[in-house]
Amino acid sequence: MSEEKSLNFLEELIDQDLKSGRYKQIVTRFPPEPNGYLHIGHAASIVLNFGLTARYGGYTNLRFDDTNPVTEETEYVESIKNDVKWLGFEWKNELYASDYFDTLYEYALKLIRLGLAYVDDSTSEEIASMKGTPTEPGRNSAYRDRTIEENLDLFERMRKGEFPDGSRTLRARIDMAHTNMLMRDPILYRIKHAHHHRTGDKWCIYPMYDFAHGQSDSIEQVTHSICTLEFVPHRELYDWLIEKLEIYPSHQYEFARRNLTYTVMSKRKLLQLVNEKHVSGWDDPRMPTISGMRRRGYTAAAIREFCDRAGIARRDNIVDVGLLEFCVREDLNKKALRRMVVFDPLKVVITNYEKGEEMVLSENNPEDPNGGEREVPFSAELYIEREDFMENPPKKYFRLAPGQMVRLKSAYIIRCDEVIRDAAGNITELHCSYIPESKSGSDTSGINVKGTLHWVSVKHAITAELRLYDRLFKVEDPSSEESDFKEYINPDSLQVLKSVFAEPALKTAKFEDAYQFIRKGYFVLDKDSSTSGMVFNRTVGLKDGWKPQKG
Ligand code: ATP
Ligand code: MG
Repeated sequence: MSEEKSLNFLEELIDQDLKSGRYKQIVTRFPPEPNGYLHIGHAASIVLNFGLTARYGGYTNLRFDDTNPVTEETEYVESIKNDVKWLGFEWKNELYASDYFDTLYEYALKLIRLGLAYVDDSTSEEIASMKGTPTEPGRNSAYRDRTIEENLDLFERMRKGEFPDGSRTLRARIDMAHTNMLMRDPILYRIKHAHHHRTGDKWCIYPMYDFAHGQSDSIEQVTHSICTLEFVPHRELYDWLIEKLEIYPSHQYEFARRNLTYTVMSKRKLLQLVNEKHVSGWDDPRMPTISGMRRRGYTAAAIREFCDRAGIARRDNIVDVGLLEFCVREDLNKKALRRMVVFDPLKVVITNYEKGEEMVLSENNPEDPNGGEREVPFSAELYIEREDFMENPPKKYFRLAPGQMVRLKSAYIIRCDEVIRDAAGNITELHCSYIPESKSGSDTSGINVKGTLHWVSVKHAITAELRLYDRLFKVEDPSSEESDFKEYINPDSLQVLKSVFAEPALKTAKFEDAYQFIRKGYFVLDKDSSTSGMVFNRTVGLKDGWKPQKG
């Protein structure tokens, strides 16, 4: 984050807090629930939380919000750790809300002893029906005035497993007429006889989000607990619990969720896409997950840059995915190794080339002075892209046409002399002649051509499979549409080219390297590659539809 950039509202607050001496250091946490893989929205939260403590001094914890035993899995914990590290951040402590179950239980007992919590025998339907509405007060439960002793006894027996799921809850005793519905005796604990990924079968009562999150923040002495806007109404309860329990005063701050066009961002929906096989998995390159983007070839630097540029807002908004693609292109342009790959071949025979073959030198990356060069084999039989030839071209067509000249990238100027056809009249090859004095780097021909084509030598070419991705959804905001979001899935989001022709330097392609297939796009090796064949994912095309705003 550059110093000139204006501060976001959280940075302004923290600036003030540090100046006034309210805090000596800043402590934040990133608190994922391990019930899915991280997505680009989480990345915004990660960049914000880790960015603040990097900038102002202090640290960030990684805390798994694992209070719901049913949906959580160890696989998700591992993927989350992996993704945060890959994004380039280091947490101070790896923590689990479930490690606080004993402390939270003690906190609950404290509230009961203070007369601020009670065991309610009502069913969830009964509780809901007595909740009232935003304009009407709720009604008190018949169990609200139990004695402290009775509550202590029943809560203890809830913990011991004497009651079935859903038969009782522990509720805070606040005010059933409160203007904030969440303050109308919220549920703190529910009974759930379920195995937990860390605590096993030790517990059959589990704390609700509101009775775990703020308390976990407080236990860790988090100064700035940053969450998304839907938690604004929860802040009052967050503060109430901390005040009544007399524990460390963490504070909650909210910012708008990061939404992106042409995708969905809730783990519930992403899980549906995976389970119903609309995609190949959480790391399908079309998914907005960190692992999907990584597999597609997006870089961590580009994702961080996107998060910085998109900034944080206090109102919900949706950011153009074009901004993300712009950041990816900018970063890859600096890093990607240039290679030549012909997708749809048309054979060119150079009739006057008598050398057999030779090596020409081509830069690995014109943007990188230290990028070096590679050797590319040139011979009398080449492939060019079929779309780079036109028999009856319009004016200002600078690619190949009968009698017209083009430069072959890093090699020679050629002229098309003859078009060869099969019996059915299809063009099968072009007979061309080359200008020997026109070799790139030592061109003395004096001929100027406007078009430069990529090519590969037929006998040296290797083949590869390409996977070309498009947006996963046909509409900008599938979640806001009337029908089910899955009706807006783009049926053409994946196009596979089974066998394209590549220059031999790609034989040693590495997973960690980015490639620009010249004139075609950015590509990365996919994990499905094997000794029997290479598979490349198109990360993003070369053309940029998105323009950064001025000013
Ligand atoms: P989802 O609705 O996708 O399941 P969540 O909020 O339930 O998201 P958590 O695992 O609870 O997911 O989120 C961990 C942290 O990441 C929270 O602090 C949450 O506010 C933040 N976060 C999640 N989604 C977004 C988003 N789209 N934009 C910004 N922050 C997000
Ligand atoms: Mg959540």
